[in-house]
Amino acid sequence: MLTSCSGSGSKTQAVLTGRVVYPDDANYPAAKQLWDGLFITFPLAIVFAQQAQDVINAITWCRQNNVEFRARSGRHSLEGWSSLNGGIVIDVSEMKNIVINRSAMTATLQTGYNQGEIVAALGQQNLTLPLGSEGDVGVAGVTLGGGFGYLTRQFGVTCDNLLAVDIVVPSSSGSAKLIHADANNHADLLWACRGGGGGNFGIATAFTFRLHEINNVIHFKLDWDFASVPAVINAWQSWFPFVDARLGSTLVVLPKSVEVEGYFNGPEVELRHLLAPLLAINSPNQLIEQVNYAEKYAKNNAGPRQLNNWKFSSSWVYQPLSAHAIAIIMQYMSSDIAAQIPGANYWCLGWGGATRKVPSGGAAFYHRNPLYYAEPGAGWNDNSKTPEFLIWVENFSVAMRPFVEGGYVNVPDASFVNWGELYYGINYARLREIKSMYDPENIFNFPQSIPLA
Ligand SMILES: Cc1cc2nc3c(=O)[nH]c(=O)nc-3n(C[C@H](O)[C@H](O)[C@H](O)COP(=O)(O)OP(=O)(O)OC[C@H]3O[C@@H](n4cnc5c(N)ncnc54)[C@H](O)[C@@H]3O)c2cc1C
Repeated sequence: MLTSCSGSGSKTQAVLTGRVVYPDDANYPAAKQLWDGLFITFPLAIVFAQQAQDVINAITWCRQNNVEFRARSGRHSLEGWSSLNGGIVIDVSEMKNIVINRSAMTATLQTGYNQGEIVAALGQQNLTLPLGSEGDVGVAGVTLGGGFGYLTRQFGVTCDNLLAVDIVVPSSSGSAKLIHADANNHADLLWACRGGGGGNFGIATAFTFRLHEINNVIHFKLDWDFASVPAVINAWQSWFPFVDARLGSTLVVLPKSVEVEGYFNGPEVELRHLLAPLLAINSPNQLIEQVNYAEKYAKNNAGPRQLNNWKFSSSWVYQPLSAHAIAIIMQYMSSDIAAQIPGANYWCLGWGGATRKVPSGGAAFYHRNPLYYAEPGAGWNDNSKTPEFLIWVENFSVAMRPFVEGGYVNVPDASFVNWGELYYGINYARLREIKSMYDPENIFNFPQSIPLA
């Protein structure tokens, strides 16, 4: 059982266990590499834990030696906060074991998996979890900060499906211990792990999730020329947040076009009826196809990675964007700088349906009732352009601020000042109290980590 490890006492000298990679190892450059090329760090060592005891040993070693550390799983932190200079990276990505209980409709899995691996493993039994759409993003980081994608309106935010977590937290003896949090044990910590952010309270080593049936779904993709942006945004934002929850959809504004893509977990004839308000706008190019959900997910993630550096700035749209706000989006997306950014986009994910339903026991995830999630984003390879492109994202984000609210802790923005309120709203105060209970010495510490109460 995953909870059977005990904390090692701080009186004996801890050693780093697991697969430990040091700077003079040939594979150090690959071991320290994060997904986003903007963030280059030089850790003292990377500990690839093979079991929870390795995590306990690493935290204990760091405490005994007064060395900082970070938790890491899928390496996709969008501010690079899963690594650090001169400290220990405690990486769970080699811990992969999954037990699917079909009759209970649950899966208990170690936190080393990425999303693609989970969708594939569950898909073999026509089961799934509502995850994000990129296969190589870690399940750990996604779940702990929230987690959303095309199935969210039907099955909820990823963290709302989290029933239990095994997590290594600091112990009062100067060491660390593995505890199990569920509805009856450490329920406050389960609440915090449902959207309260990765790296704040402990290092999660296993999750138990509620599962959902899925098989064939209808995938659709519509696209229009750039001139259609106002009509498409207006139609999408006044219609989509309120339609059948079996429908999930994104809207993406690109420098020369606008796209709406999504999945419907129901018959094609019903989808065509639901899409009528969009299909009526300026004869879009359209693709409507039946696909197997897990197979399509794998296919979407099969291609090689194109762009190395990425910056996004997160927000939520609670009131329909006005004509003025839409004009700002068009102004930024049609600017000379946007034309130079290969991955320039304004990306929105429709909200509503199950997102509004808080799970039994509650969740730290705060943004239940917006119309949709929205972020300006940029991706590029030319490092010499980095300062210019970062400023474009920053200015775009600031220009949109009067029309949006909040932020998403999984798409953190180091430039946010009142980030606690932006990410967590009224849940921030309780998160600080829980932080003080489980990590009173604040050893889980990074820019924008939850502070002590
Ligand atoms: C290309 C891309 C696409 C994305 N798409 C989506 C999407 O569709 N939907 C969505 O919701 N989000 C999306 N995100 C955001 C994503 O949810 C976050 O980047 C997430 O934090 C990544 O988790 P990770 O495990 O890959 O990253 P990591 O960098 O390993 O970790 C992220 C954070 O979690 C902490 N952490 C990692 N593992 C653990 C652990 N075991 N225990 C405790 N803390 C831990 C880290 O310390 C860090 O603070 C996307 C990000 C990228 C880069």
